[in-house]
Amino acid sequence: MEHRARKRFGQNFLSDPNIIRKIVDAIRPLPDDLMVEIGPGLGAMTEPLLERLDHLHVVEIDRDLIARLHQRWTPERLTVHEGDALKFDFGSLAGDGCPLRIVGNLPYNISTPILFHLAEFAEQVRDMSFMLQKEVVMRMVAEPGSEEYGRLSVMLQYRFRMGRLFDVPPGAFRPAPKVMSSIVRMIPLPREALGAHDEALLGEVVTAAFGQRRKTLRNTLREYLGEADFAALGIDPGLRAERLAVADYVAIANHVADKRK
Ligand code: SAM
Repeated sequence: MEHRARKRFGQNFLSDPNIIRKIVDAIRPLPDDLMVEIGPGLGAMTEPLLERLDHLHVVEIDRDLIARLHQRWTPERLTVHEGDALKFDFGSLAGDGCPLRIVGNLPYNISTPILFHLAEFAEQVRDMSFMLQKEVVMRMVAEPGSEEYGRLSVMLQYRFRMGRLFDVPPGAFRPAPKVMSSIVRMIPLPREALGAHDEALLGEVVTAAFGQRRKTLRNTLREYLGEADFAALGIDPGLRAERLAVADYVAIANHVADKRK
């Protein structure tokens, strides 16, 4: 039976077999990988993934699609988790010494919250490969000084090594989205490479700095740093948020944490 794509679930289904193959090739699934696909939809990626994997977990919110998935694959091959990926405990799937691989053509309407939710499970993850709108991927991988560089860039680059693999045009989907898409790969950095003493505080500082992008750090970080603090950190308070590297934000957060001790 035809499935009518639901806008509220961000449903744009992949329909170009060459692109689907290219994505699955880039993921390189191996038979005993512990993999979870977010939003399997009509199974465009699920099927080629299952050609290479012994077993796959999926998380899907749409009941109609869930029913189809149950009809098509047995629980031995596919475990279907019914519900909202934004609330799903991905850590519950990872075994001891068996990190998760997370993949998916993500619903674009919730891309930022889903990336922040997934970042919480970085320690249990081996890698993540996602299709997202190109504009979001450009923000994820943006470098300091560029227009796209913002809170998403800093918070994700703090936790992951990221690479944009290739772009996918709207014509590869049914229905076609209005925007270009890109495939991004995220690999968690080792714990010892991270360096923030208080990650919640890092998030707070970065949110404050980018909250008003046009203002200088002297203004946006007034609550955290005085002139003497900027001098001690060797950071010019007349700069704007987009000029600072991830390491600068970590240094600021650690300085604030030390002051509060
Ligand atoms: N993987 C399929 C493909 O490539 O053709 C479908 C991709 S479509 C862009 C996004 C999928 O995510 C849909 O199947 C949609 O129902 C599902 N979805 C949307 N919001 C979700 C959520 N909060 N949690 C889990 N799945 C969700």
